[in-house]
Amino acid sequence: MMTEPIEIHAMINGETYKTEENKPRENPTHPDEIVGYAPVNTKEETIQAIDAAHETFKTWRRSEISERVERMRNAIEKLKEETPNLAELLSREHGKPLYDAEGEVTISIMWMEYACDNVEDVLKDQVEDHDNGRTLIARDAIGVVSAISPWNYPISLSTIKIAPALLTGNTMVLKPSPMAPLAVSKCTEMIANEFPAGVLNMVHGEADVGVELTSNPKVAKIAFTGGTETAKSIMKSAADTIKQMTLELGGNDAAIILDDFDVHDEEAMRRLVISNFLTAGQICMIAKRIYVAKSIYEEFVEKYIEAANKWIRVGDPFGDEVTIGPVNNKNQIEHVQSLIDDAKEKGAEVIKLGEILDSDLFEEGYYMQPSVVLGASQDDPIVQKEQFGPTVPILPFEDDEHALQLANDSIYGLTSSVWGEETHALEIAKRIQAGTTMINTAAVQGLDVRFPFGGVKQSGIGREYGKEGLLAYTETHVINLPDELDLPYIPK
Ligand code: NAD
Repeated sequence: MMTEPIEIHAMINGETYKTEENKPRENPTHPDEIVGYAPVNTKEETIQAIDAAHETFKTWRRSEISERVERMRNAIEKLKEETPNLAELLSREHGKPLYDAEGEVTISIMWMEYACDNVEDVLKDQVEDHDNGRTLIARDAIGVVSAISPWNYPISLSTIKIAPALLTGNTMVLKPSPMAPLAVSKCTEMIANEFPAGVLNMVHGEADVGVELTSNPKVAKIAFTGGTETAKSIMKSAADTIKQMTLELGGNDAAIILDDFDVHDEEAMRRLVISNFLTAGQICMIAKRIYVAKSIYEEFVEKYIEAANKWIRVGDPFGDEVTIGPVNNKNQIEHVQSLIDDAKEKGAEVIKLGEILDSDLFEEGYYMQPSVVLGASQDDPIVQKEQFGPTVPILPFEDDEHALQLANDSIYGLTSSVWGEETHALEIAKRIQAGTTMINTAAVQGLDVRFPFGGVKQSGIGREYGKEGLLAYTETHVINLPDELDLPYIPK
């Protein structure tokens, strides 16, 4: 399905903005096909966008909540109408299967609706009458938010920032990733058009644009999703002007399979396989290390491979039977392959999984056959690093304490999962260092936009989703009306 390349634009102060330089985005399934061109903005254009957001904030912060909600609901209606087109474009530029791309737009809409439904409640003044008078806790908007999003879930990880920021009275400049910039730009443009000029701006580009967005003194908050190493540069870049930050970073999520897990439970096995390989493993919260109780290890591996061979069907993202498409880009393949090769050299066994539905296409596109890695050790890079691709190591553990020690032995702490009898699993779940732990399911299957999501340790700072995800775009302003107006110990 070859179509004419599309062209997207930057958006500055309500105007679409054409740049001199544009960057092609290829289709990972057919790398010779250009899906579209994204602008490459300059530092000066980025400053213009920040200035527009800064100027608009003066009036937008005072707008009625009901007006913001109405505008956002109008945007949601447009997104609903456009879902099939957005999903198709996303699938073509990203490589994720169509069902997966549709799921991404759907979850974005669910969150935007939740944000609309709850913003009034979240922004309401809290009034407390106490033994020394009355205190009011008010919520103010923060200012200009720089939002920087990654390529793996470009629409949902941008709208996760846009909706709460705008609804709570902030303005924004968004920079999507150059690795999947097209569908998210269409989506952002649709939302921006429902708001006054300058409320939602968008620039494109690489790290230089990112540096301006994170160091400019007019930016009050950074909302970033991406790699932990990039976040370290961002923190340095923002240090001089002490900005607020929400950082959603890398993960190396453990799945612990307890000795009372039923290896014959085919549904549970399928859920586990999906939680390792959905979106070809390119999800921050995918289960990236599986630890299995030694007593059931052999049988587990056999049944896991069986389940994986059933569910994994690699092919054209638009194919009806396909569950996994290509990897988004060549660098990602090289990174994953180097981790696999290293494990192999150290003696690990690599077992390929699933069915390749079209071998010609497999050769042409950025495809990788999914695999499991057996016999790796805890210190190996395949276990310690975030692979972010279609492979997963399986390791045995001695007892529950050992499982916890292995799971917590990581610089990351995004999500995790425990599989087995519910009470037993809950006991273990409480002791895992992670922002979210799921029982008998994992990854996006267990995600709920009504509850806060985020990481501990080097997986991030702050939370998105839930009421916390709205509060993250507010400053707390305490207004005290004390009865005692003086302190007794200060001399008169
Ligand atoms: P990345 O860090 O390479 O890029 C993310 C964004 O930052 C892109 O828009 C990029 O252009 C921009 N950027 C790059 N250098 C910058 C700089 N110096 N200053 C400012 N911006 C800069 O990440 P990626 O490869 O796009 O995404 C994959 C990573 O994102 C993985 O580590 C994954 O785990 C993580 N991720 C985390 C979550 C989460 O919610 N915790 C969700 C999805 C992805």
